[in-house]
Amino acid sequence: MKMLINGKSVEACNGEFFDIINPATGERIDRVPKGTENDATIAVEAASSAFSGWASISPQQRAGILYRAAGIIRQKKDELAVLLTREQGKTLAEAKNEIAGFTKVLEYYCGLASSFHGDFISVPQNGYAFTVKKPLGVCAAIIPWNMPALIMAWKIGPALISGNTLVLKPASNTPLTNLTLASILSEAGLPSGVLNIVTGPGEVVGETLVKSPKVKKISFTGEVETGKRIAELAAGRMKRVTLELGGSDPMIVCDDANLEDAVLGALRGRYYNCGQTCTAVKRLFVFESIAEKFIKMLETGIRNLRVGNGMHENIDMGPLNNHRQWEYIKELIREVEEKDEGRIITGGRVPEGSAFNKGYFFEPTLIKDVPRESRLLKEEVFGPVLPVVQVKSLEEAIEAANNSSYGLGASIWTKNLDQAHIGFEQLNAGIIWLNQHLKVAPEVPFGGTRESGIGRENGPDALSEYLDLKTVMIKT
Ligand code: NAD
Repeated sequence: MKMLINGKSVEACNGEFFDIINPATGERIDRVPKGTENDATIAVEAASSAFSGWASISPQQRAGILYRAAGIIRQKKDELAVLLTREQGKTLAEAKNEIAGFTKVLEYYCGLASSFHGDFISVPQNGYAFTVKKPLGVCAAIIPWNMPALIMAWKIGPALISGNTLVLKPASNTPLTNLTLASILSEAGLPSGVLNIVTGPGEVVGETLVKSPKVKKISFTGEVETGKRIAELAAGRMKRVTLELGGSDPMIVCDDANLEDAVLGALRGRYYNCGQTCTAVKRLFVFESIAEKFIKMLETGIRNLRVGNGMHENIDMGPLNNHRQWEYIKELIREVEEKDEGRIITGGRVPEGSAFNKGYFFEPTLIKDVPRESRLLKEEVFGPVLPVVQVKSLEEAIEAANNSSYGLGASIWTKNLDQAHIGFEQLNAGIIWLNQHLKVAPEVPFGGTRESGIGRENGPDALSEYLDLKTVMIKT
């Protein structure tokens, strides 16, 4: 596939490409241009030229185009899901869910087309004021490989409906679904230059976008360290940022929780997308009194998960997306064994057999008796490994849960409303769930505190991240 710049499919200026690998089979499925600084600059110019035209049509007209695109995407959902599974590794069911999520987010922002207008403010003894909301101009979106379609929607939905134009840089492992979705948007009538996709290395294409004087805002999703680098570059240029970074979400299971529900919540929360979700359950805190029973139930659930190529029927968990992630997970487990930092109850290995020979597969893993200083609790474990810690009380659980540099999501599982309220109040996280985990919806604001980031996506709040507010005061 080629990049999409100014409505045209183009190669990189240097004529170079890089391969896209299927993480389940190791096969090369396609290649995309290895974009350069020059390509990123050309895309910014295209977005800049398209801005005044796009900003000047009504939000409803913009919504008409985006609605049409969502309709085409819905018709093509099966083929898009296959493409997503082939480049990302997730199961077909997960991929279909993600493509459906893309259309829902787009349609949600179309529905907000009439909602972002300024206010009238009466000013006592002076007159009145009013505010006007304006798009920012050219925005850059830089996205990761774990949920490439959904995260693309989280950025283009609010950015485009509010009249901005965009240059999006996909992750280097998963650009194909992004490129295909963008070409469908063009087919639906999105004017040339409004959405441009430049593939290539983050340090080259991504940083050129961040540094470009014509880019007014950067919306980034990815690792904390990359987010810090982008924040530093953006701060020196006084640019707006939205940073959706990593997480190490705690799940607290109280002694009165519905254990069947909590087991399902932990299974889905941890092993969905092979554990590669920013708000996955990454640390499990269970009350001592129910720990043995709960861990046994969870172990049974994990042993029933079928690992394999996401393209095949009846698979619950595909491979990790890439070699780096696979090596990281293997290294963590090696360290647990060498340092005796916990007891592996199930999993902990690369599955055996010819079906697994060429992919980045890893067994769904559960580890108990994990010491508090273990890397499993300190780092963001982006893979199918779940450490369990037993706690005596809610106070101890919250204290341990908050002992993290992250603050993305957290869940508390209890039937007791008083306990739930203590959780809502005291857990340091941007999103807190009661008796569920991992649930997101286009209408619900999403984002983290502390090192998990700055700003919010989804919901009406995300629109203000892409709009400038101008105030006019009038003396009467
Ligand atoms: P990453 O930071 O390595 O890469 C993300 C994107 O940034 C890629 O497109 C990459 O090419 C680009 N990039 C890399 N270096 C860059 C630089 N110097 N300047 C500009 N761009 C650069 O992250 P990843 O490994 O692709 O994704 C996994 C991470 O994303 C995890 O930490 C996960 O928790 C996080 N994530 C967060 C959310 C959220 O909403 N909070 C959602 C999904 C994933």
